Amino acid sequence: MKMPKNTFFNEERAEIDTMDLPEMASAPVGPEGPQRRELAVVEGKLTILVVRVVARDSETTRSEEALANSVFGANGQAVNMKSQYDSCSHGKLNFEMTDSRDSYYNSKTKIRNGVTTVYVDTSTGQGDSVMRNAVTAKLNSEYDVSKPNQLADLVMYCLPPGTFSGVAYAYIDSWNSIYNDEWCSKLSAQMHEVGHNLNLGHRYVQSENDFFCPYTIAFLLM
Ligand SMILES: [Zn+2]
Repeated sequence: MKMPKNTFFNEERAEIDTMDLPEMASAPVGPEGPQRRELAVVEGKLTILVVRVVARDSETTRSEEALANSVFGANGQAVNMKSQYDSCSHGKLNFEMTDSRDSYYNSKTKIRNGVTTVYVDTSTGQGDSVMRNAVTAKLNSEYDVSKPNQLADLVMYCLPPGTFSGVAYAYIDSWNSIYNDEWCSKLSAQMHEVGHNLNLGHRYVQSENDFFCPYTIAFLLM
C-alpha cells in the first residue's frame, strides 16, 4: 500500500480513504475488519458544522455559501448531504445546521448557516496533521470550547488545496471528517466520510456513486 505523503494515519480511530485514487489499492486501510466494526444505526437529529480554512499560504476554494449549499441545500441545491441522508434513512436521520454563534475574540469569525471560516497561522506544506490540530485549536479558542464537538455533533474540516494528497478521511464513530479542498462539497465524499463518523465501515460506504445510500444498506442489514 502506497501512502500519500503527509497523510494522517491513526491506527485506532481514523482511516485513509482511497476512493478516486486509482494508484492506490482499493482495500480498506486500518481497523476496517468486520470483526472490529460494530454497526450503530443512528436516528434522530444531528447538528453539523462545516469549517472553511484560511491558512497562511492558501485557503479552501469553496465559499461558505457553496459549502452550506452542498451540505444543507441552503442556497437551493436540491440534492445535498442533508437531503440524501434524510432520503436514505427514510426520514429517521435529520441533519441540521448547528446554531449560529459569534466568536468571543474576533468579529470576522462567526457560525452562520452551519458554516464558519477559521484563520490559522500554518502553511499547507506543513501537512494535514499540523493543519488539523491548528484548526481544532482555533475553533476552541474562537468559540471558547474545549473540543469542537461542543459546537456540533459532526464537524467537517475543509482544508486548503495542497495540504494533503488524498481525497478525504474520517474518524470512525466520532465527530470529525477531513476533506481535501473541493471534496468538501462533493456528495460522494460527504456521504462516505460522514458514514464513517456514524460508525459505518467500508462494507457499507464503499461506492463511487453520488447517490449511494450507506445508511439504507446498514439499516436493512440490521
Ligand atoms: Zn472510507
